[in-house]
Amino acid sequence: MEFRRMAELCERLERARGRKEKVRMVSSFLSSLSKEEVEPFCHLLLGRPLPPSSSLTLGVDWATVRRVLLGVTGLPSSDLLRAFHSTGDLGETARLLFQRRRYFSPTLDSRPLGLREVWDALARMASEGEREKKERLLEGLLNRSSPEEAKLLVKVVIGEMRTGFKEGMLLSSLALSFGMSEEEIRRAFALSADAGRLAGLLSEKRTPLQVIPFQPLEPMLAQPAGGVEEILREHGTTSLEVKLDGARVQVHKKGGEVRIFSRGSKEVTGSLPEVAEEARGLQAEEAILDGEVVAVDEGGRPLPFQNLLRRFRRKRGVEETRRRVPVKPWFFDLLYVDGRSLLNLPYSERRERLEEVCGERTTERIVTSSQEEAVEFLEKARKGGHEGVVAKLPDSPYLPGARGKLWLKFKPVPETLDLAIVGAEWGYGRRARYLSDYYLAAWDGEKGRFEVVGKTFKGLTDEELAEMTERLKALEVSREGRRIWVKPEVVVEVAYSEIQRSPKYPCGMALRLARIVRVREDKRVQEADTLARVRELFERQGRG
Ligand code: AMP
Repeated sequence: MEFRRMAELCERLERARGRKEKVRMVSSFLSSLSKEEVEPFCHLLLGRPLPPSSSLTLGVDWATVRRVLLGVTGLPSSDLLRAFHSTGDLGETARLLFQRRRYFSPTLDSRPLGLREVWDALARMASEGEREKKERLLEGLLNRSSPEEAKLLVKVVIGEMRTGFKEGMLLSSLALSFGMSEEEIRRAFALSADAGRLAGLLSEKRTPLQVIPFQPLEPMLAQPAGGVEEILREHGTTSLEVKLDGARVQVHKKGGEVRIFSRGSKEVTGSLPEVAEEARGLQAEEAILDGEVVAVDEGGRPLPFQNLLRRFRRKRGVEETRRRVPVKPWFFDLLYVDGRSLLNLPYSERRERLEEVCGERTTERIVTSSQEEAVEFLEKARKGGHEGVVAKLPDSPYLPGARGKLWLKFKPVPETLDLAIVGAEWGYGRRARYLSDYYLAAWDGEKGRFEVVGKTFKGLTDEELAEMTERLKALEVSREGRRIWVKPEVVVEVAYSEIQRSPKYPCGMALRLARIVRVREDKRVQEADTLARVRELFERQGRG
């Protein structure tokens, strides 16, 4: 399949209005692909240059894309900025620049790009360590691109499709193509945690409806509750556990081999050698465990989440950081053991088996129906440095990917928002070297863009400011005096005193006394809070 055909499809998807129409278009496109093309196509369509389970990242930032675009088209950067300001989209900018391209490489290769070829080149780009080589590979692809292909390529590379075609729609297209019901496809998806891989399995007529080691499942999620009283009202008797302030991990073991996946099914084994070591010692030949990995101090006490991030982001120097920031896993569920899926067993039984498999490495908990005991447990958890509690209905099965009342969570802290940084300003005085004042934005689902709701220079240490400055510089899209606007990619958790009505920002609201609590490395920008949520909190304050 030629890449050009996929670019045409994406143009049509952008124009199409209804969900049904988009689903049908993709389904018919799927039927024209060979078996080997189905999985790459699905990943690319969702703006994923690599499979989500890959432990690699592409390592091509906005600044690099800009540089390569200017090099390939021979146009000045003022043209790029103008195009970007009028479209607000780097892919569309690429298309416009390619239409006005001044320069054609003398070694111009006129062979059409293949879909599979693009996918393989992206994989090479990711495994290539040197930036120069990555740039050459991107250049090679762009040199053979039409304006529409260049647009699609840029969108995939920066992971932002804006075709309005989401993972849920892809699942519906797959259902249509492979003769499955919506219910069947959603169950299959939860067990494979990756729509692209699921598509690949379906096209090879292999069943994904199995729980087996090294195939990550979507984790089961908890719904927020207002307090222990509400938890007990919902559950009657509940399994009340400490809510650890770390990162979710799914640990898969088979014999001596262990692989660890993060919440987004990304493999993180390399960053967590001590968790892998611990897992090798489990009392089972094969197992899939669900748990949380937490940074700990010398006495084994949990440290705040921020410490753990150093471990996840670091690719090199794992050994050194390991000495400085030791981590430990605590497990709370067992999904599979020695050839058998436990998903349909009640939690109480899974938990018993879990304790046999990993002894004291399990989360602290009580099974209770008493309000007094629950409050006491919550207080103890807070004193122990934990975030709060998670309550699980003892009779409940494990439902991959589901967020419902079977698991409830409660954090007795003031409401915070997870917001994207969309701009920043250089500081003054001691902070002049840093981009230290941040524009915080929530996702406006109706307008399809981020809207600024506040600004802050509070909450980060000097070391963090230096790190953030480097990250934001790489995401720069435009400059206005002391301010830069950046591609929304970094998500931060923000505390504030109240949400005020204010003309300062177009959305009409502004956070008062905003302060960054932590950088949410574990959240993708798509998971940032929405403007609708900010409005809801604003209204709950009784000022709406
Ligand atoms: P949140 O990230 O605030 O949505 O809270 C849900 C997360 O809490 C889960 O995804 C886990 O990573 C984490 N967590 C910590 N302790 C537990 C526990 N005992 N049971 C389940 N999830 C837990």
